[in-house]
Parts: sequence; C-alpha cells; structure tokens
Amino acid sequence: MLLQVNNLDSYYERVQALHEVSLEINEGELVALIGPNGAGKTTLLRSISRLVRSTGEIWFDGQDLTKLSAHDVSAIGIGHSPEGRLLFPDMPVEDNLKLGAFRRRDHPQISKDLKRVYDLFPVLQERKSQMARTMSGGEQQMLAIGRALMTRPRLLILDEPSFGIAPIIVDRIFSAIKELNRDGLTTFFSEQNVRVALENSERTYVLEYGRIVMADVSDTLRDDPRIAKSYLGM
Ligand code: ATP
Repeated sequence: MLLQVNNLDSYYERVQALHEVSLEINEGELVALIGPNGAGKTTLLRSISRLVRSTGEIWFDGQDLTKLSAHDVSAIGIGHSPEGRLLFPDMPVEDNLKLGAFRRRDHPQISKDLKRVYDLFPVLQERKSQMARTMSGGEQQMLAIGRALMTRPRLLILDEPSFGIAPIIVDRIFSAIKELNRDGLTTFFSEQNVRVALENSERTYVLEYGRIVMADVSDTLRDDPRIAKSYLGM
C-alpha cells in the first residue's frame, strides 16, 4: 500500500472540516474523490500534503506524514496540483514548470521530465515562452499538472482537474492522466463532475459533510442507485 489514512480529523481554527476519514491507495491505482460543494475534498487533499492541521495517521510508503512539513512531503514524492492552480501568472510557462523541480539536483532527469510533460501536453511546449496568465483555463490546468509532475512524484494529487474547463479539454487532460497511470503513476484526484470522476478512475471515495460515506470500484458506484439519484441526476 502506498498511502494509508487512518481516522483523520482536520481543522480550520476550531472548525472541524473532516471527521474520522480513513482510506487506502495502492501503488499504481487511479482513485477519485467525489462529494458536494463544501464536503471537504480540498481539505482532505491538503491534509495529505500537510497544508491543513489534522490529527490521525497518514502513512506514505511506511513514513508518517503527520510528522512532516509540506516541503518534506513534496520532497518524499507527493506532487500536488492545487485548487485554483496557483501558477505564477507573470512568469513564462516553462519557468512555471521548472519551479516544480527547484528542489531537485538530478539535472539530466529534470530535462527528461520536462520533455515528458511537453509530450503529454504539446501546447505547453508551443507556448513555453508565453506568460502563464495568458493561457486559457484548460492550458493553465495542464500547466499546473505539468508543474506537479516536475516534482517527479510517486503519488500525484489533483484537485478538481476539470474545474471550469470545456469538455473536450477535460477529455484531453484525463487521457494524459490515464496515460501517466498506465506508466505506473499512482494518482488521487478530486472531482465535482461525478460522471467524469467515475469514468476516469478505478475506485472512488464519496465524501459528505467531512466523512467518507461510500467507497467502491467506480463501475460499481456508477450503477448504485444512491449515486445515480444524488449525483447523476437520475
Ligand atoms: P468545493 O468543491 O466547493 O471546493 P470541497 O469539498 O473541496 O468543496 P472544502 O473546500 O475542503 O470542500 O471545504 C470543507 C469545509 O471547510 C467547508 O465547510 C468550508 O467552508 C471549510 N473551509 C475550507 N477552507 C477553509 C478555511 N480556510 N477556513 C475555514 N473554513 C474553511
């Protein structure tokens, strides 16, 4: 098992946003996290990356993440593409990508990883000198994912990769995510768009009011009447 979360409670000041969350992600899996607005999806992903205060256990490849800072977590192999993308808008595309690798010293591998990102998202190479802010929403999402890949992660965390993006670009982004996963990259992503989440993952966790309320193989959840009624409008 690559990631194991046990009884996680997360807090903003005194407000508790997650309650007793437990989940497991195996090496090589592609796992989705769905739930309504405000359910705590972002909070859960940020808790794993140590950006939100929490109690409980988070084990990553045998290491206890709760003892680490956000910097350490990135250094041991968790790449996080955050909600809102958080790019440097007035820096060129390529510099934004290179920032993902700023702690690394393995320069030949960094060049290979940059080429890999450009192979996955050719538009980033075509626009590599353009300021990030001048890219479309979909291109900025590709850039945020590319920057997370430049950390050379063992676990890729993506917060709502389809948010605000045209369906055709969403398809392109998920085909890149699936290609990375076929090459062995373990990925955990949150999604508002439940249909997209279930179509593009092996397993899915459902979060409501800060608690995991369902978890199953995505194909099984797609046929579950509770999911159909609450999330797919059927
Ligand atoms: P969305 O899909 O709308 O982004 P979400 O499922 O990602 O929602 P979170 O953003 O994790 O949900 O929010 C979970 C709860 O924590 C909400 O009640 C939210 O109001 C609260 N919350 C989030 N960020 C903060 C913060 N910085 N300070 C206080 N409360 C917060």
